Amino acid sequence: MPAGDPPHPLAAPLLAGERRALAKAITLAESTRPDHEREAQALLSEVLPHAGRSVRVGLTGVPGVGKSTFIEALGVRLADAGHRVAVLAVDPSSGRTGGSILGDKTRMPLLTVHPNAFIRPSPSGGTLGGVARRTREAITLCEAAGSTVVLVETVGVGQSETQVAAMTDLFVLLTLPNAGDELQGIKRGIMELADLCVVNKADVDPAAARRAAQELTAALRLLTPHGAPWQPRVLQASALTGDGLDDVWAAVEDYRSDGGRVERRRRTQTGAWFEELLREAAWRAFQAGVDPERLRALRAEVLAGTLTPVQGVTALMGG
Ligand code: GDP
Repeated sequence: MPAGDPPHPLAAPLLAGERRALAKAITLAESTRPDHEREAQALLSEVLPHAGRSVRVGLTGVPGVGKSTFIEALGVRLADAGHRVAVLAVDPSSGRTGGSILGDKTRMPLLTVHPNAFIRPSPSGGTLGGVARRTREAITLCEAAGSTVVLVETVGVGQSETQVAAMTDLFVLLTLPNAGDELQGIKRGIMELADLCVVNKADVDPAAARRAAQELTAALRLLTPHGAPWQPRVLQASALTGDGLDDVWAAVEDYRSDGGRVERRRRTQTGAWFEELLREAAWRAFQAGVDPERLRALRAEVLAGTLTPVQGVTALMGG
């Protein structure tokens, strides 16, 4: 906060962990009104020194794999153990369908009413970048309000996985026991993001789950560069019975036990995020300043082959 600015009225109750203040602060950060945006940024910078102290876990998997059941079961365990658990979501489709699929409270009935849990649906509408930005800000606000675990869910379709992996300490891919079919369905890019793979619904067919885990382990080994600091792990679990959930959390803690790893990852993420925002802002500034006629004319010349693309850009940038 710049010196001299009065503290934001939400800051004190937020830092005291009041959930109404947290909900209001997130709503403020989700608003696209320019005055709200300024206010939200002031509040965020004020509470930033109190953020950063949670375990941030991203989760993905195809619809039906059991994400909400898993988050509910794991979340209740952690909340019962004294953690303060926040559940957030990135679902860029929620604007189009009218209501958010993710973070829908009816999908996590026990966690929703748990005094140590806070569930927030995906911000709806806007671009994936916009939804991701608001979720990042919600992570900061949850941490400032005392969350010790933040679980960020994504739909498992589209591009949102990359965004969620870029805002969490560890990214978990949930899969099904029918690995053969499953491996074809999982996009290679998503496998590459996974720090932890969990074969869920192992209770349905334990033998198939074991085979799936072996196949996934082999696939991940091929994808992981030699000498990588972390070899992604594959575990089996049942979100329904709770079997294996303790192992999942133990793996998360193991990953985080190298404190430097998380710190490095967060620094890299923050740097990349800053650059992404800078690129967006530079692009907007360019669009606001450029003469559209001149842009059209130069583009036409590039398309006609009378200018190379590089010459077109150089001419536009006044070079
Ligand atoms: P999501 O779409 O990924 O959020 O999946 P849901 O959590 O809604 O789960 C889809 C269905 O699978 C529901 O009927 C769950 O009860 C069921 N389910 C989830 N996890 C398990 C599990 O570990 N074992 C079994 N047998 N069923 C599960």
